[in-house]
Amino acid sequence: MAGRRLLILGGTGEAAALARALAEAGGWDVTTSLAGRTRAPAALPGAVRTGGFGGIDGLAAYLRAERIDRVVDATHPFAATMSANAATACARLGLPLLRIERPAWVPEPGDRWIDVADAGEAADWLAGNLPAGAAVLLTLGRQEVAPFRACAALRFVLRSIEPPAPEDLPTECLLLSERGPFTLDGERALIARHGIGAIVAKNAGGEATAAKLAAAREAVIPVVMIRRPTLPTTSAVADIAGALDWLVRD
Ligand code: NAP
Repeated sequence: MAGRRLLILGGTGEAAALARALAEAGGWDVTTSLAGRTRAPAALPGAVRTGGFGGIDGLAAYLRAERIDRVVDATHPFAATMSANAATACARLGLPLLRIERPAWVPEPGDRWIDVADAGEAADWLAGNLPAGAAVLLTLGRQEVAPFRACAALRFVLRSIEPPAPEDLPTECLLLSERGPFTLDGERALIARHGIGAIVAKNAGGEATAAKLAAAREAVIPVVMIRRPTLPTTSAVADIAGALDWLVRD
């Protein structure tokens, strides 16, 4: 199977780990595709392309032109459009597609999670349930922050890899431009330092950003958890070991 062409739809730690594992194992000519949202992405082995394909048609044209043999969708669990486009384009061309689907977090005894569909619902819950002046830790992407501008009585600490546009920021908002992994000690300290009374998170799953959930449990504060979007039904594995298995099968 030497030289077969694989496209990894990237943007996650799993995507980078898969590209590294395949660079060592050989046998696949790998291209990783990045959306281009992160200004200084970590270096990756193999070819890297950046930017949208131009919807389903653009992706299908790319897959044909580049003679891609298989696709691994290793995008973030919330990257629903890219995953849907990959499913449709691969089905159209008859290309094998596998998604790496990191298991979602599930609440543990002692957790107080509020299940919401999106950032707008999270902001509504905060506005209706927290006292004026309460501090909220937002662990979200820069494009999900604008709805919290409606919570004028609350203070926010936003932890995000990239800073949002200034006009999207709530009035009282401290910006922490940090990238995981985060430790339990660090999360405890962050909650204590800012007097955090609630956390807003997306159910990303994985270890790198899970410590905040344990820290919230200890501090007995609610976690407003944005549930995952529905993704198309596609063959899926939980981790890169599963993806490597799939890639050695005929
Ligand atoms: P999305 O809503 O599913 O994608 C929007 C559009 O961005 C897609 O239609 C596609 O444009 C382009 N795109 C997305 N991922 C791409 C990729 N890997 N390569 C080339 N184009 C891509 O996704 P998103 O939420 O904007 O996420 C963008 C990227 O950030 C993904 O790679 C994802 O893994 C990563 N990420 C997302 C989150 C999150 O919470 N959403 C968190 C961490 C990392 P075209 O239609 O023009 O092809």
